[in-house]
Amino acid sequence: MSEQQDRSHSRIAAERRRKRRRQAIIRRICFGVICAVLIALIIILCIKIFGESGSDEKETSGEVVTAENESTSGSEQNDSVPEGAQSVIDEAAFLAAQYDYDGAIEKLRSVAGFEDNEAIKSLISEYELARDTCVTVDMSTVPHVFYHTLICDFDRCFKSSHDKSLMNGYNAWMLTVDEFKECLQQLYDLNYVIINVGDSYKKDSEGNYSMATDVKLPQGKKAVIFSYDDTCYYCQYQDWGMADRLILDENGELKCEYTDESGKTTVGNYDHIPILNDFVKEHPDFSWHGHKGTLALTGYDGILGYRTEFRMFDYPTGDESSWLAANPWCKKSEIETYKEQAKVIVQALKDNGYEFASHTWGHRHADQKGLDWLKQDTEWWCERVESLTGDTDILIYPHGGDIGGMEDYSSSNEKYTYLKSMGFGVFCGVDGTALYWNQYRSGYVRQSRINIDGINMYQTLQGNNTALKKLGLDVEKIFDTRRPTPVTAG
Ligand SMILES: [Zn+2]
Repeated sequence: MSEQQDRSHSRIAAERRRKRRRQAIIRRICFGVICAVLIALIIILCIKIFGESGSDEKETSGEVVTAENESTSGSEQNDSVPEGAQSVIDEAAFLAAQYDYDGAIEKLRSVAGFEDNEAIKSLISEYELARDTCVTVDMSTVPHVFYHTLICDFDRCFKSSHDKSLMNGYNAWMLTVDEFKECLQQLYDLNYVIINVGDSYKKDSEGNYSMATDVKLPQGKKAVIFSYDDTCYYCQYQDWGMADRLILDENGELKCEYTDESGKTTVGNYDHIPILNDFVKEHPDFSWHGHKGTLALTGYDGILGYRTEFRMFDYPTGDESSWLAANPWCKKSEIETYKEQAKVIVQALKDNGYEFASHTWGHRHADQKGLDWLKQDTEWWCERVESLTGDTDILIYPHGGDIGGMEDYSSSNEKYTYLKSMGFGVFCGVDGTALYWNQYRSGYVRQSRINIDGINMYQTLQGNNTALKKLGLDVEKIFDTRRPTPVTAG
């Protein structure tokens, strides 16, 4: 072998060694990268599993992270929660539990120095991940359920001395407090999440309507619209075992006043609003962004239990003086005070996630009454009720009396054209059989609503394929078997 060949061989051997070293380095880098990716994936998976397993009580997830961080605070200074930040973390956890991830993140970012705090940064990542995996709700398939005022004293409502036709009515349209609680629990267990009517649609600056697209929920959760008819605590409910009015208790919480048969007045959860408020405190993920439903108010007896008007159902021909004599606790001279009190409750309801709709002033069949009636009635509602509740474009028909059939509303429908001119564009009827029925048109929105009440429960128990069944409710478990049967239309 020549010297030249020797040099050539050793060059080749050196080249090969370099190549092997390069490959070894590349292999090590690849291995390192794969390990890093795997670790990152495991961390994300853990966060996801941890987040999902705590979905029942997401408000506590912030506290769990905190506890972990506190136990390691000795080793890593910036792992511990900054002083005074725990309440902010708790508030953020509650917002996140109600699917308001952006609100939760914004809250966490308000903590001074959050950029250098691992505990807060990891919560932000958790909420970003949860937000990004949510799915837009298809509003065209969302059920809309509604309730009336609840019966809080069963025996009083169904006592034998009562007028039978009125009793039939309350038996048909009302739930008891316990039935409502069971219904809430079942809807929650079925993964429903409450939204308001106002969350289901959008109205652009030119007044055109469309389906809302900003309600997003985690996979498996389903939106349901809640509304409540006649939250007025009518004078005719007296002696029927229903609440007198909504009030704010000494803690500033919405509660009901109820005067029992002996004349004793107490404060408590006698109707759906305080019951649902408490339920959502315990189960924040039952409510999208804290929303709890739409209250449909008439005007003829005042609103929310406040006699902002006196019994003038047939105004101006009604006999006001005899009504005042029969209801001595209502003082006509106090009407302005009652209005101010009602406004305080209106604001508290808005702060608690409720919104308002018209249920017409006089609670008549809008389908059967003429255009002249509709004009007078709508003017009264706007003057006397909307002035207390604030603007709304939602009209919930009394008795489900829709002013049109299933075909689209058209400009040849005078009542529709008139209601549009008065600012209404969202119209709700009643259908206790369909899971949902909607019309989203540029001119208006229409939704049918499912009555969750005595008659629809009874129909379900008779084997009919009602919307309650389609919702997945176990009516047998809800229905109070003490109710007089058969339950017929009141
Ligand atoms: Zn009604």
